[in-house]
Amino acid sequence: METKICAACGIAFTPRHQKPRQKYCSAPNCQSKRRQVWQKERLQDNQFHQENQADAQQDWLDRNPGYWKKYRSEHPEYVEQNRKKQRNRDSKAKFENLAKSDVSIQPHTLKSRSLFSAASENSWSCKERRMGR
Ligand SMILES: [Zn+2]
Repeated sequence: METKICAACGIAFTPRHQKPRQKYCSAPNCQSKRRQVWQKERLQDNQFHQENQADAQQDWLDRNPGYWKKYRSEHPEYVEQNRKKQRNRDSKAKFENLAKSDVSIQPHTLKSRSLFSAASENSWSCKERRMGR
């Protein structure tokens, strides 16, 4: 039977049949060492994963340019929602123009201005988020 050198204590041991890639012998100290290393690796994996999640998502989208097209074709309700949002934006813009051309509705001008600037702030923070990655 194949023997291996324990990665913790350096003593030769025989891996169990169920775990042919076992790196540590069955001594309690070596098993706790194995768990320590495993936890450390897991932690590093998680950090790596979190830091790279945003990048990975963008990379994935870059590699799958047809994704959104496909997504939209498979999720008509999403498209409909977006269309409604766009319609809201359109009517806001119309209102803005209307307000500019008629000074008699001054309060509305102020209201639509604030709505408008809120919308542009949102799109700006989107841009920032993309640049920050
Ligand atoms: Zn050992």
